[in-house]
Amino acid sequence: MRQSTNEYDAEGRLVNGYDYQRQAWAVAGRWVRCGHPEAMGCRCWGKVHEGEETPKKGETGRTWTREENKRNWAALGIAL
Ligand SMILES: [Zn+2]
Repeated sequence: MRQSTNEYDAEGRLVNGYDYQRQAWAVAGRWVRCGHPEAMGCRCWGKVHEGEETPKKGETGRTWTREENKRNWAALGIAL
């Protein structure tokens, strides 16, 4: 496993680490997809919100479009 200390930015957004409430990982301030196989059809936060920016402290965040997510990940050098 990785470090146990989450990193947050000045606005309280989770940058790197694990959100226990949502049961999802964040890397570079964005949610990372869960490791479940596609066939499971899971609705994990990390799958539904993959590539979205983590919300500021006290905010729930918003749902990003697929195109926005593609741009988000492309900026990180990751193709969806
Ligand atoms: Zn999952």
